[in-house]
Amino acid sequence: MIPVTKPFLPSLATFQSYIDCIWTRQWLTNNGPLVNELELKLRTYLNLPYALYVTNGTIALQLAIKALALKGEIITTPFSFVATTSAIVWQGCKPVFVDIDEQTLNIDPSKIEAAITPRTTAILATHVFGNPCHIEAIDAIAKRYKLKVIYDAAHCFGVKYKGKSIFAYGDVSTTSFHATKLFHTIEGGGVFTQDEALLKKMTYMRNFGYSGVDTFSEIGTNAKNSEFHAAMGLCNLKYIEEILCKRKELFEFYRSSLETSDLQFQHIQSQTQFNHAYFPVIFKSESAMLNCMKQLEKVQVCCRRYFYPSLSALPYLEQIAMPICDSIAKRIMCLPMFHTLDNLERSLVVKIITKAQNPSRKRIAAKPAYSTAIAGTEMIANIN
Ligand SMILES: *Cc1c(COP(=O)(O)O)cnc(C)c1O
Repeated sequence: MIPVTKPFLPSLATFQSYIDCIWTRQWLTNNGPLVNELELKLRTYLNLPYALYVTNGTIALQLAIKALALKGEIITTPFSFVATTSAIVWQGCKPVFVDIDEQTLNIDPSKIEAAITPRTTAILATHVFGNPCHIEAIDAIAKRYKLKVIYDAAHCFGVKYKGKSIFAYGDVSTTSFHATKLFHTIEGGGVFTQDEALLKKMTYMRNFGYSGVDTFSEIGTNAKNSEFHAAMGLCNLKYIEEILCKRKELFEFYRSSLETSDLQFQHIQSQTQFNHAYFPVIFKSESAMLNCMKQLEKVQVCCRRYFYPSLSALPYLEQIAMPICDSIAKRIMCLPMFHTLDNLERSLVVKIITKAQNPSRKRIAAKPAYSTAIAGTEMIANIN
């Protein structure tokens, strides 16, 4: 089986050496030395003044909303992972969707102003698949209407915009270090801000609101992460350049192999140093996408409808039409992207997609389950 993603794993010996140290110190969590070291290394790698390591990318969003004391309505994108919207609702605010740009797949800034009401307090936008939002346009609107800006940068590790880490933008940027993300700490997340007072507030909030041994300054939660998770992060960070390189190579292979197809690709913002974390492809119709997915499944290649459905269709929200997002969400899927995806496997993916796009050519025969790369060779032979 070729999955859509596989977590990156460092050498077991390296991870073990960190675990041995944890055993010696017997310090498992509560802002331990590995958590501190990871934060320091992340700040250095990203060239940012502050970074807070937290439990996951969802709590990172909740902390940001809470620390900015947001109330009322938050303008957001319907094309994201469910946590972007659910974090808003969880914090007692109302998500107000603004449709996306068909090319970039990010929130369309030209439609934001029409959605602003006296109750609007912020904009929460996702840099979809690591593609930077139209940051200048969003900032200008936020300034004009005195709104806060949070970026959900869960897909963005390694992305730079105008020479700076993408996490440097917005009042707060959040990210996820979940196992499925390009850089991960098994579970984990990050919160970034340039505002020292806000950082302090979030640091206390992360730890139950403690500001001293017996003193509390904020209402807090438990958003701490453990030494074990930080250990995985420290190991994985050693491989980050290799991971980024491999993704780029894979991305470029898919892109050049599928260039002449009918598929539409995401348009990447200029002045971006991209991380090539995902390879989304947009079909002409939902049926073309489903047919292709079926052909891929026959040879045990799993692609994923991502993001689907549109968040504006969530059952706990008032239903509203988001024509562009609704249409894209039905026609998009992400191709397998992970560190160990080999040449045979990626060629198989491309061949099946190309054939599915060209139904006039010989049909691809359904085959029984195969589970290794060698089976992949056979499959390629079979569809030739
Ligand atoms: C993964 C993801 C999250 C949630 O992060 P977790 O660490 O899994 O909680 C939030 N937003 C987006 C866009 C994501 O892709």
